Amino acid sequence: MTEHTDISIKERVELIRERIAASAAASGRSASEVMLVGVTKTRTVEEMMQAVPFVDAIGENKVQEAAGKKESWGAAASPQWRLIGHLQTNKARRAIEIFDSIDSVDSVPLAVRLDRIAGELGRRPRILIEVNTAHDGEKTGASEEELPALLDCAAGLRNLELEGFMTIGPLTDDEAAVRGAFARLRELAEGARRTTGLALPVLSMGMSGDFEWAIAEGSTMVRVGTSIFGKRDYRAV
Ligand SMILES: *Cc1c(COP(=O)(O)O)cnc(C)c1O
Repeated sequence: MTEHTDISIKERVELIRERIAASAAASGRSASEVMLVGVTKTRTVEEMMQAVPFVDAIGENKVQEAAGKKESWGAAASPQWRLIGHLQTNKARRAIEIFDSIDSVDSVPLAVRLDRIAGELGRRPRILIEVNTAHDGEKTGASEEELPALLDCAAGLRNLELEGFMTIGPLTDDEAAVRGAFARLRELAEGARRTTGLALPVLSMGMSGDFEWAIAEGSTMVRVGTSIFGKRDYRAV
């Protein structure tokens, strides 16, 4: 992966947009079908603000970190905030207060709790179900075995708007393995549309290292951090 450290955040987003457009075109799709989420974990509010006019949403992994950033956001136009990291049930209330969409719903108890709290707060957040398609023990996300029950539950909850699915591809350069995981999420979504009758338009898949493969497999939302902001320094947080 090429990292452009000598150019501005705006220019790096433009390069990503060009690559999104090229991969979409190569599969006969339009770039407008693919949302770009700028992943801003470990990044400062100043860096975020440089990217916000050019991305469709921002993605944060931790409730606490996002809460701090949102507090210091000030008067600038606020982006759409999406939670893409694992959510512990005890942070569900704070997550609903902060995020427009929770993309990492991975269990029935979490979905039920989010629904109850959303009802109490009079909100109707969007959610995605995160599926572990990489079959990787360290990854978060519901297993395929857990998916039917979670889907059945989430589709019936009144205070959450289930929009689709999210996955993290396997961490490997093996194109067939990565594309296979993304293709699997697409198939699971097709099955879920049939069983629920819901539109479920969102397939959030693809990060800096693999978003072009994800688009080839039908991604409608890519989550890009490193290729926009450079390498992360976790010691800074
Ligand atoms: C950090 C993260 C990303 C962005 O990864 P990059 O490789 O930096 O683009 C995307 N999705 C999730 C769930 C993440 O945790």
